[in-house]
Amino acid sequence: MELNSALGNHTGGNILRLKEYPKVELHYHLDGGVRPETIMEIAEREGIILPANDLENLIKYLKVSDDNDSLISYLEKFELPIKCMQSGSSLKQIAYEAVVDSSKQNVKYIEVRFAPLFHIEKLSSAKEAVEFVLQGIKKGEEVTGTIARLILICLRDHGVERNMEVVELAGDFKDSGVVAVDLAGNEKSYPAKNYRELFKKAKDLGLNITIHAGEGDGPESVRDAIYLLKANRIGHGVRSVYDENLLDEIKLLEIPLEICVTSNFQTKAVHSLKEHPIRKLLDMGIKVTLNTDNTTVSGVTITDEFELMEREFEFTMSDFEKVVMNAIDSSFVSKEVKEKIKKDIQNIIYNDKVSHLTTY
Ligand SMILES: [Zn+2]
Repeated sequence: MELNSALGNHTGGNILRLKEYPKVELHYHLDGGVRPETIMEIAEREGIILPANDLENLIKYLKVSDDNDSLISYLEKFELPIKCMQSGSSLKQIAYEAVVDSSKQNVKYIEVRFAPLFHIEKLSSAKEAVEFVLQGIKKGEEVTGTIARLILICLRDHGVERNMEVVELAGDFKDSGVVAVDLAGNEKSYPAKNYRELFKKAKDLGLNITIHAGEGDGPESVRDAIYLLKANRIGHGVRSVYDENLLDEIKLLEIPLEICVTSNFQTKAVHSLKEHPIRKLLDMGIKVTLNTDNTTVSGVTITDEFELMEREFEFTMSDFEKVVMNAIDSSFVSKEVKEKIKKDIQNIIYNDKVSHLTTY
């Protein structure tokens, strides 16, 4: 008998609940996931004045409100954490905690991303910022067993020259934990075509490329990220649904989408949760992956996102298996490590299926 059919097609009776379910996260911003307690600790240590001195009120400055209505107000929530991420010790601590917090959600592999040029006020160089973050995620790996890699973010409003430093840095750290470069920021005002030279350099250096696109702008932005910048993956890509031909191309080219449902709703990349195209994209056979984007700013854990999928989009255990396998297949880690993580995850899922069967 097929294990899946014996188990039924829903998650209700499964032993492995969604928190324990093994996960892979590909789209996680370091500055969007800082623990509020850590902000208080760093502020105290470094003499940074906070807008509130108790946790309850401080959270209002770090997390978007339930009625957030734009990407602009979403991005305002990053000001305070970035202020507290300017020293080597703070970067290392926050990177370490990112891996620890993810491991508590049973994330087996995570790609953390950050923009080095935003974190150099108290450091001598962007290189130093990368080194401290790498130290933090490596310590997190050692302590938790969750494997972590780093993506360096280029900013659309920084222009090619400043961003070139980031791409070159990523090249320098390619064998020490940095696996890719990203492009983030205002898609509408700074189109992909401006950055062709930058991402050609990234490709020449052997780096992987993921591009935030189809979040603040429409399908053309996604198309340009794929064809002009040679993106291996797309961050969000949700507005691709306005162009059926583009969806077919994404499927044909097997371009993974790093989907972050709660964030997409908060930034109004989609107008309501119900309108989110994740179910359609998954059912079409597009390589959909599930991610948080910003755990603190969005106020979610990856488990919350899984539960949201079960509640609002009728995800079954086989859907969860699909998105987790999509994510590990789409990850930028070496082939060898990828195979190991994949095997570990498959064992956990298989053992759960077997233990579930034996309870009958
Ligand atoms: Zn993002």
